Amino acid sequence: MPTLEKIQPELQFAQNYVNEVFEIVKKRNANENEFLQAVKEVFDSLVPVLAKDPIYIKHNILERIVEPERIISFRVPWVDDNGTVQVNRGFRVQFNSAIGPYKGGIRFHPSVNASIVKFLGFEQIFKNSLTGQPIGGGKGGSDFDPKGKSDGEIMRFTQSFMTELSKYIGPDTDVPAGDIGVGAKEIGYMFGQYKKIRGSFQAGVLTGKGLSYGGSLARKEATGYGTVYFVEEMLKETNLSFNGRTVVVSGSGNVSIYAIEKAQQLGAKVIACSDSSGYIYDENGINLETVKRLKEVEKKRINEYVNEHPHAKYVEGCTGIWSLPCDIALPCATQNEIDEVSAKMLVANGVKAVGEGANMPSTLEAIEVFHANNVLFGPAKAVNAGGVAVSALEMAQNSMRLSWSFEEVDAKLQEIMKDIYLNSKTAAADYELDGNLVAGANIAGFKKVADAMIDQGVI
Ligand code: NAP
Repeated sequence: MPTLEKIQPELQFAQNYVNEVFEIVKKRNANENEFLQAVKEVFDSLVPVLAKDPIYIKHNILERIVEPERIISFRVPWVDDNGTVQVNRGFRVQFNSAIGPYKGGIRFHPSVNASIVKFLGFEQIFKNSLTGQPIGGGKGGSDFDPKGKSDGEIMRFTQSFMTELSKYIGPDTDVPAGDIGVGAKEIGYMFGQYKKIRGSFQAGVLTGKGLSYGGSLARKEATGYGTVYFVEEMLKETNLSFNGRTVVVSGSGNVSIYAIEKAQQLGAKVIACSDSSGYIYDENGINLETVKRLKEVEKKRINEYVNEHPHAKYVEGCTGIWSLPCDIALPCATQNEIDEVSAKMLVANGVKAVGEGANMPSTLEAIEVFHANNVLFGPAKAVNAGGVAVSALEMAQNSMRLSWSFEEVDAKLQEIMKDIYLNSKTAAADYELDGNLVAGANIAGFKKVADAMIDQGVI
């Protein structure tokens, strides 16, 4: 391939094309800030690819890839414990099916809107492609807030949600999974309702299922473990490892808990974690057993931790967690939780690596700060791809009607995370962007999907 220096006119042409398409995207999706942020990050990475491979411009892949194949928005009526009718809004974005059926989680959180679901669905296209598994990109959710709701309310809401969603999904069409606010319990209710409506047991329609009806061992652990496996690969480049390092993990949900577990197994000291109200700091290292019981079993707030560990501190508000000095930061809660100010604090305190367990937890400005200061930075679509990768393994086990052991799935997950790291690193180097894993992940994820779109014609 010619070096970038030798193709300056092509680079300028590709940059102009990217700018033009981005202007169109902005007009068509005005006010969808999260979606525009995700598109900008991907577009910026693709300029050298388009300069070297103008076939993607000829087929107008950028304009096509930012337009979801289908967006479904629907009413979700349900009756609360007082007998009052409540109404929420449900979404499913079926973004891209070039390399397989749509695949991506369902989020229940009051902040869910079209922009959030679209950014998540867009990211999912490239993430799923990076896993090497045959899965397209999709995402869904509702502005329903599970906090403070009874089990009966959660079940009735979830059943109503699935009554409508069931018209659009299936094992070869669209396979949802969990995300924020949707764990094994909600997946169970969704699966039960889908089965009742369809009158058939189709294990492959959802992933993250319970082990007694088609779930995969190690799915629960996959995103958190995968995050740590990826960061461990990144650290190896500079002869570092988790062993003996101080780690801060935001959130205390599914991804955070299993990131903490794996980091501790690898010898790290995890000193802090959080929820949307505040964070706890335990200089002796977080007691994971307590966090698991509080969050997974008792569904309590993280501040309760200090009742059992009085030497630990609880601080109201979640962004302050990034002011704690650490070697490795793993944002595992939600989008845009690390802004430029937080990124600068982390750098000033000597952070060596940041791995995004959550989706888009760093703003574009924060990423620039990390890159400018040579912090090893692992982007979400690569780092947290372990969850969807094991979901694809769950689909494979369902179609073969067998179950692999925990060790088998975990070994496959480790291999997949190593491959994702290597492919992202190699793609970055191919375009003279050595060490820029944001660009590498975007490029590697994009090329496979774009090539499939070209092969399949204008559809
Ligand atoms: P989860 O189990 O529902 O946990 C979410 C955690 O983040 C909770 O501790 C929650 O605190 C906190 N949080 C939520 N919204 C917040 C906000 N606005 N500010 C601060 N903290 C907030 O969800 P999860 O499955 O771990 O997902 C976490 C992130 O990972 C999300 O970005 C998700 O898209 C991404 N992800 C998840 C998977 C997966 O397999 N689960 C796969 C790939 C990516 P509260 O309890 O106070 O709400």
